[in-house]
Amino acid sequence: MRIFIFILFLVFFQNLKSQVIMDSTKYNKLTKEEEAVIVHKGTEFPGTGKYLKNKKKGTYICKRCNAPLYKSESKFDSHCGWPSFDDEIKNAVLRIPDIDGRRTEIICNNCKAHLGHVFLNEGFTRKNIRHCVNSISLVFVEDDKKNDRKSKETKNKKSEQKRVEIKNDTKREQDK
Ligand SMILES: [Zn+2]
Repeated sequence: MRIFIFILFLVFFQNLKSQVIMDSTKYNKLTKEEEAVIVHKGTEFPGTGKYLKNKKKGTYICKRCNAPLYKSESKFDSHCGWPSFDDEIKNAVLRIPDIDGRRTEIICNNCKAHLGHVFLNEGFTRKNIRHCVNSISLVFVEDDKKNDRKSKETKNKKSEQKRVEIKNDTKREQDK
């Protein structure tokens, strides 16, 4: 029973942490630099982004509203100077014509934060799509933290099992 409550607490805590903010008055506060890209559709200087070379497994969420946008499995090296993804999490990213009349802008489907631009048919990956995303528009949530929790849960379950086994052994010993 105690383990059950413990797991329930973990699930609740995890959900709370990655909850998407739907109410625009409650969006995460942005710094001036973040605002310049996310609100005013600026572009961070190429080669400088925090996640450009990030190869860890996890999920990239929206800096402003926490909506999950990209999985690390979709990230690839394009050497264009910005993090590149060849797919988005389903329905997470919206494509709109850029005001420059040439490119296609990508924005968060939930809060409409500017992410970057999408390019097709460049031949980088099998999917032939490149989401060119500003690191500053994203927050990376590593998978390992979830796995750590899971392994802890399994460990707890195992030690509980061991305790029961020892108890049974002692009982058997006593019955003799
Ligand atoms: Zn968003």
